[in-house]
Amino acid sequence: MNKEIKEGKIISISGPVVLAELPGVRMRDLVMIGETELIGEVIEFRKEKVVIQVFEETLGLKPGEKVFSTNNPLSVELGPGMVGKTFDGIQRPLQVFQEHGAFISPLKGIKALSREKEWEFNPEVKVGDAVQENSILGNVKESELITTRILVPPGISGKIKKIKSKGKYTIEEPVAEIETDSGITSVKMYQVWPIRQPRHFIKRVFSNDQLITGTRVLDFLFPIKRGGVAAIPGGFVAGKTMLQHSLAKWIAADIIIYVGCGERGNEMTQVLEEFPQLIDPRSGRPLIERTILIANTSNMPVTARESSIYTGITIAEYFRDMGYDVAIMADSTSRWAEALREISGRLEEIPAEEGFPSYLASRLAEFYERAGLMEVHPGRLGSITAIGAVSPQGGDFSEPVTQNTKRFIRAFWALDKNLAGARHFPAISWLESYSEYIDEVKDWWHVNYRKDWLSYRMKAVEIFQKDQKLQQIVKLVGPDALPDDERLILLIADLLKVAFLQQNAFDDIDMYCTPEKQIKMFELIMKFFDESEKSLQDGVPFHQIQGMEILSSLKRMKIEYRNDQLPELDTLGDKMVKDFQNIKEFGL
Ligand code: ADP
Ligand code: MG
Repeated sequence: MNKEIKEGKIISISGPVVLAELPGVRMRDLVMIGETELIGEVIEFRKEKVVIQVFEETLGLKPGEKVFSTNNPLSVELGPGMVGKTFDGIQRPLQVFQEHGAFISPLKGIKALSREKEWEFNPEVKVGDAVQENSILGNVKESELITTRILVPPGISGKIKKIKSKGKYTIEEPVAEIETDSGITSVKMYQVWPIRQPRHFIKRVFSNDQLITGTRVLDFLFPIKRGGVAAIPGGFVAGKTMLQHSLAKWIAADIIIYVGCGERGNEMTQVLEEFPQLIDPRSGRPLIERTILIANTSNMPVTARESSIYTGITIAEYFRDMGYDVAIMADSTSRWAEALREISGRLEEIPAEEGFPSYLASRLAEFYERAGLMEVHPGRLGSITAIGAVSPQGGDFSEPVTQNTKRFIRAFWALDKNLAGARHFPAISWLESYSEYIDEVKDWWHVNYRKDWLSYRMKAVEIFQKDQKLQQIVKLVGPDALPDDERLILLIADLLKVAFLQQNAFDDIDMYCTPEKQIKMFELIMKFFDESEKSLQDGVPFHQIQGMEILSSLKRMKIEYRNDQLPELDTLGDKMVKDFQNIKEFGL
């Protein structure tokens, strides 16, 4: 770190933006402003002056107060002490804030990670071992669910000269000494990394792995890959937050980074109150034991909201480097984009579409492009799956944030307000959503479940497309005017929507559906379709099929059969075949 400190003074203040005289600083340098040492970042040069965005309330700040730079970019501390914690957009622990009385100064000197707490360090290397960037020196068990690995920091390689024995240490105590070509480097349990700079990795890795979410409409129709990128656009109360929570609980990732960007204060209060109460369904322990929350409350300046997604993804990269599968959720990126717009307005930049700055797209890219499946150390893979909620006004997806997000994501999970209004949850539109991972994950289904998932999926899509066309006709002439085979399509589409796509996040059985159960449920519905077609050909009238009792059993199978009750579902299938024989022979 460069210790040379540059000093200057405030010229003027406009909300979270400060103009200062501060010669010699660089773009994106971290600066301290005023007596209370508010934290800010250099974002523009104007002739001899610099523009600084301040991450804290600037009320009370006066022109003439001093400003100084530490010559370091805005960074996060990466080490033990993050799991289970809630931080603000520049990684200050929120709990500490509360002790200081809400979010007001003095915040001077608050550190992200505790300097006093001692962590039990378990060494995993010995003297003489050769190590390089991201080699594991040891580990700290942070919670029942997460073990943090202590890594060799980027850019360092050599031989272990000293390694601390198993024991309790603070993060400031060096745990290892590495003999490098340029001398001896001592390594602590934490690293400091600039949030706007992606962490190193060896290479991106291609895989076919689907990341199962347990939500049928996503896994079966609009899958996401391990290391994939998805967006959840949806208007107010369409179900974005519910879906994000459901994903946080069930998605097949080790660690969840949840970035809450709320506009209204109560939205964030909801996250801060609700999230710590969620239970990790797999372990039965609090979900927070494998979660890190980044929260921007409404009484904090918009600038901290702007930085929050980069703070979040940097922390995600750090756990990825340990070899974990990390999922990062941002709810909502629209609130983040509004922060960007507000800062841009303060800077009097020329606005582009709907007042957003012209660099909206590149800033979104700087977030989403850091997701992926990477080789982080020879033979060690880690991944970041990024899922951003977008909340366009009135659910209108043609607005700039949704449109620009579409350029960088590959799965689009569109929430439809009409579905939400009709209490079809999750309200994911089967017509407007898409996934570009379909061709890539099809082999994964083959290998893991020996099923031709792709043809199943195509079948479902075909039914929904026909259904949509027929619905237009029904609107004009009513269903009775349609021939029986077309009425059957309407019936099957309805069955798929109710029995398969709808999934109650509050139901103990239905909240998570395994891929095996998804396949079985789909096969049963298709079996009903086949049997119905045969019966119609055999002259069974449509109204008899429509009135079959088995239909309501199919609609209830998601809540009546647990994931481990697949043989019972086979029995239901056998009963269905018999029922069809009966109506053919005896009528209903
Ligand atoms: P948004 O974040 O889009 O404004 P929420 O996620 O808060 O919307 O959802 C609004 C309401 O919709 C929830 O309080 C809940 O009643 C209902 N809801 C959303 N998704 C589901 C679901 N999967 N299962 C049951 N109810 C849901
Ligand atoms: Mg919400």
